[in-house]
Amino acid sequence: MITLKECNVCPRMCRVNRYETAGYCKAGVTLKINLYQLHFGEEPNLSNNKGSGAIFFSYCNTNCVYCQNFSISQFGWGKEISKSELSDIMIKLQELGANNINLVTPTHFTPQIIDSLQMAKKDGLTVPVVWNSNAYESIDTLRKLEGLVDIYLPDFRYFDNLAAKKYSDAEDYPDVAAKAILEMLRQVGHIKEKDGLAFKGLMIRVLLLPGNKNKADKILEWIKQHLGNETYISLMGQYYPTYRASAYPELNRSVSQEEYNYIVEILNSLGFENGYIQDRTSSEDWTPKFFN
Ligand code: SF4
Repeated sequence: MITLKECNVCPRMCRVNRYETAGYCKAGVTLKINLYQLHFGEEPNLSNNKGSGAIFFSYCNTNCVYCQNFSISQFGWGKEISKSELSDIMIKLQELGANNINLVTPTHFTPQIIDSLQMAKKDGLTVPVVWNSNAYESIDTLRKLEGLVDIYLPDFRYFDNLAAKKYSDAEDYPDVAAKAILEMLRQVGHIKEKDGLAFKGLMIRVLLLPGNKNKADKILEWIKQHLGNETYISLMGQYYPTYRASAYPELNRSVSQEEYNYIVEILNSLGFENGYIQDRTSSEDWTPKFFN
């Protein structure tokens, strides 16, 4: 059973009573969001021309030194809302024409979001629901999302425990994320599309860090071996140093063209069939899918 009273929502297992205090993620019991909007910069099969209905949740259960959304994830900027208000926002985004509801960094609010999703579905939410997470998630919590989430869009951030500890304070990330992603695939399978839009399945975001510090090549090899080369990959190349990255000289630069080319070569040599490659300098410029 997942509970906020002795919080076991994510692998941190803080066991704090979220009704009275906060744990590692700093989130209380009340939902908090920073922003909701039609987002046109997600992968093309999510954003397309109508936009993805993105809802950005405040706080996070990891602490990445290079987080591009640090004011939201670490400082918790945002507004508290009720579960029914979140449900209303989902319906509103659908009415605005959103292709999907894109829940960004939702993990620490999973129990509350489940209630909101159930309300929204009763009120007529029909567009696909996207779970856009860091994959630092527990299997028991993910199982509660089965049937409510249509598309899983996890990061697979590290294949190196020391790097995961140093840059995200999550030493066990590689093992935790691997198991979480296998559970996601079990629930929804590989991406299925209609008219260029994803409506179900798993797409994995692989971020390139300078110097391949997160071992993105090993991540891709693992995915090929355990999930198959039909897995949708979204290779994210637009890293830039922000938040506390300047304290880590090895991360205080963008990814070089050589490093970028190396990972693209690995991706192609492994025979992946589906996905996107983000331009190295623009977060909204994606090379269309089908690598080979
Ligand atoms: S959701 Fe937050 S409080 Fe709960 S276990 Fe995770 S980090 Fe701790």
